[in-house]
Amino acid sequence: MNPAPNRPVQAGAVTGIWPDLPARQQPSWPDEAEAERVRERLGQFPPLVFAEECDTLRDQLAGASRGESFVLQAGECAETFDQVTAANIRDRVGVLLQMAAVLTYGAGLPVVKVGRIAGQFGKPRSQDTETRDGVELPTYRGDMVNGFPFDEASRLHDPDRMLEAYNASASTLNLVRAWVSGGYADLENMVTWGAGTPRTEAVRQYDEVTEGVARALRFNRAIGVDSPLFHSTTVFASHEALVLDYERPLTRIDSRTGLPYATSGHFLWAGERTRHPDEAHIDFLARVMNPVGVKLGPTTSADDVRRLVDRLDPDRTPGRLTFITRMGAGVIREALPPIVEAVQALGAAPLWLTDPMHGNTFTSASGHKTRHFDDVVDEVRGFFEVHGALGTVPGGVHVELSGNDVTECIGGVVPVLEGDLGQRYESPCDPRLNRNQSLELALLVAQMLRE
Ligand code: PEP
Ligand code: MN
Repeated sequence: MNPAPNRPVQAGAVTGIWPDLPARQQPSWPDEAEAERVRERLGQFPPLVFAEECDTLRDQLAGASRGESFVLQAGECAETFDQVTAANIRDRVGVLLQMAAVLTYGAGLPVVKVGRIAGQFGKPRSQDTETRDGVELPTYRGDMVNGFPFDEASRLHDPDRMLEAYNASASTLNLVRAWVSGGYADLENMVTWGAGTPRTEAVRQYDEVTEGVARALRFNRAIGVDSPLFHSTTVFASHEALVLDYERPLTRIDSRTGLPYATSGHFLWAGERTRHPDEAHIDFLARVMNPVGVKLGPTTSADDVRRLVDRLDPDRTPGRLTFITRMGAGVIREALPPIVEAVQALGAAPLWLTDPMHGNTFTSASGHKTRHFDDVVDEVRGFFEVHGALGTVPGGVHVELSGNDVTECIGGVVPVLEGDLGQRYESPCDPRLNRNQSLELALLVAQMLRE
């Protein structure tokens, strides 16, 4: 049936349900009238994702929470507007597909691919201001809020940036969708996903996987088996639901069910700094039907997780709630078990992911924010050990990476040394694994899944 003429296609932007709760880490817009104009505009824009896709992801995450598949959630710490280029998006998707192939091949498990992509433009910060050479300016809060260059004009919070974030997300997602469904993700093209990467041990092992897959495909073809799944895949979009002036106007009523969905991404999470059960970010996630996540740091108490489960997953819907633990390699083996046990005691079965990055950040002698690859691997190992001991499912990994050969994290088989950090440090926020380190991590995780 055709919609009635003049029927507003985007009817259903959700207004009026947002209570006035404390909201941390929000921009301070200099002009409230301008911010209101932008919120209204965002409320008229088309959704970036559809409710049904979010339901599909929720079902897939439910499978992962039962151990039937494994989740790879990966991408930038902070996307930037400058990075919205075909080459950059291709490299980011390429490394995700490479890691997923290594995991699927090595562990014999389907991999649910979720990018930190097409919306990861807002950043929580531990300090409001930053001082350089006696000049104090607001900290960089992600391209959605202000600019990275250290000057007054760039660091001013500008609501128009939310419109640019929407457009950047739309064009990113458009290309991701086209590529993964239109041939780039075809298993016949596996060799091209890492094109241009220098040859290293990790790349050599990736080539072995490529050869194994090619042999399997030849075999299948020879016996007359083909499947659309050999030729395309799905990459879901996720980001931290941080800037509420962006997320709320993009929340829409699903015409099938009459229920609200966030349409800025398939999966949204609350960060370690905004996960208070009585505050605005958890309230926001509680009101939308998407699969949602919460980051849990080393100070998380059993009571915190009990309240989060009650707020976010009162009906114990499989796949609805993901806990992304980011404890630090040194403490995960002590800090994680009481939390998992508290959740088990509630009869809840969330998906557990490990973020082995954010608990392992330190500043190098050269002044770079960095992470050691060995700590990243050790936290993943600790995650597998704890869940193994408690009989719960280690459902996946959540990492920050780049499709390029950046030098931001120390270590790896082709080691980035502390003295190399300055060579190619391009992240405006946290240090990312480079392509080799990402492949190496995938190879190690595949091995942990087999053990
Ligand atoms: C992040 O994922 O970039 C982040 C800031 O994480 P966390 O909330 O865990 O500190
Ligand atoms: Mn980060």
